[in-house]
Amino acid sequence: MSKIRPAAVAPEPVTALSGVGPALAEKLTRLNVSCVQDLLFLLPIRYEDRTRLMEIGALQPGMRITIEGHVELTDVVYRRRRMMLCHLADGTGSILLRFFHFSKSQADGLARGARVRCFGEVRQGAAGLEMVHPEYRRLEDDSPVAMEATLTAVYPTTEGLQQGRIRRLVHLALRQIEIQPPEELLPAEVIDELGFPPLLDALRYLHMPPAEASLDLLDEGRHPAQRRLALEELLSHHLSLRLIRRDVRSHGAPALAKTEGLLSDFLGDLPFSLTGAQQRVLREILDDLADERPMLRLVQGDVGSGKTVVAAAAAVVAAASGFQAVIMAPTELLAEQHFRNFDAWLSPLGLRVAWLTGRLSAANRRQALAEIGSGDAAVIVGTHALFQAGVEFARLGLAVIDEQHRFGVHQRLALTEKGEPGGLRPHQLIMTATPIPRTLAMASYADLDTSTIDELPPGRGEVRTVAVPSSRRAEVVDRVRLACASGSQAYWVCPLIDESEQLQYQAAEETAVVLRDALPELEIGLVHGRMKAAQKQDAMERFKAGAMQLLVATTVIEVGVDVPNASLMIIENSERMGLAQLHQLRGRVGRGSADSSCVLMYQAPLGEIAERRLRILRQTSDGFRIAEEDLRLRGPGEVLGTRQTGMMQLRVADLTRDQDLLPGVRRIADRLLARHSGSVKRLLQRWIGDAARYGQV
Ligand code: ADP
Ligand code: MG
Repeated sequence: MSKIRPAAVAPEPVTALSGVGPALAEKLTRLNVSCVQDLLFLLPIRYEDRTRLMEIGALQPGMRITIEGHVELTDVVYRRRRMMLCHLADGTGSILLRFFHFSKSQADGLARGARVRCFGEVRQGAAGLEMVHPEYRRLEDDSPVAMEATLTAVYPTTEGLQQGRIRRLVHLALRQIEIQPPEELLPAEVIDELGFPPLLDALRYLHMPPAEASLDLLDEGRHPAQRRLALEELLSHHLSLRLIRRDVRSHGAPALAKTEGLLSDFLGDLPFSLTGAQQRVLREILDDLADERPMLRLVQGDVGSGKTVVAAAAAVVAAASGFQAVIMAPTELLAEQHFRNFDAWLSPLGLRVAWLTGRLSAANRRQALAEIGSGDAAVIVGTHALFQAGVEFARLGLAVIDEQHRFGVHQRLALTEKGEPGGLRPHQLIMTATPIPRTLAMASYADLDTSTIDELPPGRGEVRTVAVPSSRRAEVVDRVRLACASGSQAYWVCPLIDESEQLQYQAAEETAVVLRDALPELEIGLVHGRMKAAQKQDAMERFKAGAMQLLVATTVIEVGVDVPNASLMIIENSERMGLAQLHQLRGRVGRGSADSSCVLMYQAPLGEIAERRLRILRQTSDGFRIAEEDLRLRGPGEVLGTRQTGMMQLRVADLTRDQDLLPGVRRIADRLLARHSGSVKRLLQRWIGDAARYGQV
């Protein structure tokens, strides 16, 4: 048993501190601070060492440091703009202080002979070392003036809230610690085992590190005091997902029996047999479906590994047991493709497949809703429109979410709540577009079991990847001409001008015009996000049927589009795209037996990171390796691709830096869930706040 104090008193609002009124309190909420204890968990983003004086003669550019000396000369000069230049010397050397904003009284105060202490960053100026706008104060006489006793914390701030103000508030809160200390929520064994300082010591240390503390360690976030808080934070996020899982699993689910008949008809009718990996993953899913608790399973697999057909098999099992299955895709284009596949696979088995997106006409929507509500539709394919109010399922047994990283945890939850009124929840199958690095999976998908399809279907051709500067565009056009003349098809993905969808689609239209001009013998189509669903579908269908040889597209085709005869992929401005996105785009080719090529066009000169990205893509087509590299290059926030994951507002922890803590997180979470449910609740309050939705402890 750990020695955990019971929650003592209700948390005190910040307004209990002297000098904190409603206006200041409002600003503090922007920093996640609403009660006094929150101030303790508002951790510095960096530190300054104002504990020591540095001799001016020993200064080096880049130092942030305190110096002291006498003013030799102060001048107000015009050098393109008005500025005040103050020469300061201490007997070991001299330095120039440069001010652009200053008052008359400041200039007077810095008259020759004045004794001044200042703190700032040393820079190399044209005529020697200088500090621009240092913080400074005049010292009155020649007696020694004390330096700061501790390192100075620099806090995250928000508009209208000054550093000094935050610092004073934190110090007030630190004084309050004595009266109402924050609870130690990590079990004592854990703290001992990891050699971490207790919570109180850690907080005091981080707000007021002693003069001898290692600035390097603190700035890198690797001090044990920081690591113990990072662990608490990661643990809290992990726990919140585990509680979501526990909550979902506390409901019943329909046991979808392995009715072999319909399933073997389905598998038997496929033009191929499942790979070993597909069979293994399907078995894992079938075991879950047969259970009376909702499945929560993530299927990972590289681009082209054949996740769709596995999902379809699961849908068949649900339908065979008399329940509905819903398949949700992140884009209209992908939803349409899934619909066509599912319809072709399932209609022959006598299963009705319905279709629902935001773009249906009112009449079609009404009909779809009726079929979904009556249960006539056994399988429903669509976009997030499926979440909307008014969509009532007759007997939802299985929800499949394709390309999960576009959806957040909360959206996932919303779908499960579409279960039966009687309280049965649907099974959930989540499929990711790209493999997720192990560390991220542990942190962000802790509510899910994982299955991995780690094998590609046999008979796939090679995909050769080359990088070509856009100055050689004419050669690339020739390449398209040759490929199409020999009967294959090509994609041309247009430049990512900027975030603006408007510019993207203009660029695509212009590119199509130019290419039609250069390649008059080819049938060239266009898809972009602004087109009407029917137009897009028409273009895709014609491309798939081979009626069109070249498809010019924006990155809307990034995810999931499947046309096996296409064997050439041209990507313009590849230097602007992330690794995962490029891997996805490249995954559109190499789906047939012919060898394929991917041409990464770039605008020279390449930056360092862009060059590394393109090199990695040329070297490997292993999505798992690419995902790890992506994590290294871009960091976890970008790799998860979202602001919506709810995982990324980490305050102290950094998933890349603190990876080594993650295996421990799972173990400690197990222990807390089993034995310290009170601590679990309070950890969530401390780190995630009331806004988060989590299950009942
Ligand atoms: P992803 O995993 O990227 O979603 P898809 O499910 O779109 O991949 O499958 C890619 C292509 O491979 C599709 O054309 C699909 O029909 C085909 N496919 C899937 N499984 C097999 C298999 N076992 N053998 C041959 N082709 C397969
Ligand atoms: Mg897919």
